[in-house]
Amino acid sequence: MTHEIKYSYDVIVVGAGPAGYVAAIRCAQLGMKTACVDRWINEQGKSSLGGTCLNVGCIPSKALLESSEHFEQIENHIHGHGISVSDVKIDVKKMIKRKDQIVQKLTGGIAALFKANSIDAIHGHAKLHDNKQIEVIPPEGESYWIDAEDIILAPGSSPIDINIAPVDEERILDSTGALDLTEIPKTMGIIGAGVIGLELGSVWRRLGSEVILLEAQECFLPMLDNQVAKDALKQFKKQGLDIRLHARVTSTERKDKVVTVNYQDAKGDHQIDVDHLVVAVGRKPNTDNLFDPDSNLLLDERGFIHVDDDCQTNLPGVYAIGDAVRGPMLAHKGSEEGVVVAELIAGMTGVEVNYDLIPSVIYTSPEIAWVGKSEQALKAMGKKYKVGRFPFAASGRALAMGDSTGQVKIFADDETDVILGVHIIGHNASELIAEAVVAMEFSSSAEDLARIMHAHPTLSEALHEAALAVDKRAIHIMN
Ligand code: FAD
Ligand code: NAD
Repeated sequence: MTHEIKYSYDVIVVGAGPAGYVAAIRCAQLGMKTACVDRWINEQGKSSLGGTCLNVGCIPSKALLESSEHFEQIENHIHGHGISVSDVKIDVKKMIKRKDQIVQKLTGGIAALFKANSIDAIHGHAKLHDNKQIEVIPPEGESYWIDAEDIILAPGSSPIDINIAPVDEERILDSTGALDLTEIPKTMGIIGAGVIGLELGSVWRRLGSEVILLEAQECFLPMLDNQVAKDALKQFKKQGLDIRLHARVTSTERKDKVVTVNYQDAKGDHQIDVDHLVVAVGRKPNTDNLFDPDSNLLLDERGFIHVDDDCQTNLPGVYAIGDAVRGPMLAHKGSEEGVVVAELIAGMTGVEVNYDLIPSVIYTSPEIAWVGKSEQALKAMGKKYKVGRFPFAASGRALAMGDSTGQVKIFADDETDVILGVHIIGHNASELIAEAVVAMEFSSSAEDLARIMHAHPTLSEALHEAALAVDKRAIHIMN
């Protein structure tokens, strides 16, 4: 069907999260007339670019992790440096305000970048119809139609709801609600000991909450290298995070300010009462009302938008990127897809996303970061490998910093010595993993990494030593 078209573009991007806004900026840089339609409305009832990541995801969670980590350091660890402090207090409202100001600054920054790149930022819900036409449904007023030569769908994802724990954002919260508490709960229950459960659970545990995580699976963080997951579980338990595995929540009931949670594990039925319950059981793609059935856009068997390796959907000229397509739900994965798709539309060749080298980070303390294959994956593949390990307990810098938990683990091909995977648990693992990604992008061998000079004293020396340890020649540990 054809409609009266209000505006025509070279490219329309749907969604202004880290996938969509990056794609829009790259399209504009490449000379394309670009619009980006986004429906996000913030607490003030205003449009706010940046999607989940900037508004209620990566950035606000890291702001709270940083504040709570300072609190914990001062309360529990600063004494070791000979510094005495007493009467340490946290003003939670101020902490939340700081987080909100960071969000405001960054989302405003995207609006400024759109303006500078002459991108039309359109506020409203976008619905794809056939012939690459988009219906824009603004929060108020009449719908109108726009079209483009190419469309990039980047609608992102939302928290999965479970009907046994309906989110009311007062006592039963999703991740968004857990970022906005203005008082420290005495007790917090979390359904799901995944990335969000552990990060947000850490925030409130550091500030004094008793945090209980109920995880359905028997295996803790199965995507991690098994040994790293084991080390992490030990550390988290030591900190007081009460992680209960193989725990299946059967029902919840809210009575005024208390949420009662019933769950089963191998030992039988249990009940806990908590002030707040956070539901963190994964996220689902935002495909609700995204496209008219007549557009014939294909979804995959899990409800994600079906795409090929170049993020091309089944419809010519319609691409999809970010959380709404296969692959890990990570901001940087969507951003890379956004850049590549913009460049493919511009006719560039030889550009692609390297899906084998997507780094992952869990921003707990210690941080956990990894790229490439884990030991169990290598075993399952029947691959012959060598392993080099270096504990931060033997790192001068880690000891000087007062945080020497964890280790670096490097796997290299037994024959070629090419690095196959790097796993880090420890302070600043989030920053250290970048060196591993660069090395692996250039198909580096463990020997290459071992021959590169690392500044002393730095945490990065642990990577250097782990690379040496692959051939049993680490200097600062027994091989
Ligand atoms: P989103 O960021 O979800 O953006 C999609 C945008 O599209 C939204 O603004 C949405 O309103 C809009 N939209 C959807 N449908 C339509 C439509 N039909 N019309 C118009 N607009 C539409 N990832 C990391 O890599 N590192 C982290 O540290 C990290 N921390 C996180 C912490 C939390 C608490 C959460 C919840 C997530 C975190 N993530 C993290 C995941 C990260 O936020 C997502 O992977 C990322 O935001 C996905 O980007 P996206 O652009 O695909 O989608
Ligand atoms: P997740 O998949 O990491 O964890 C969800 C956990 O909930 C899993 O361990 C799962 O077994 C468990 N679970 C599912 N249903 C359950 C039930 N009924 N009862 C008990 N446990 C149940 O998902 P998440 O923590 O919600 O995070 C969503 C996405 O956001 C992730 O894919 C992640 O990549 C992304 N994210 C990334 C970061 C980061 O990069 N640092 C931070 C936060 C979120």
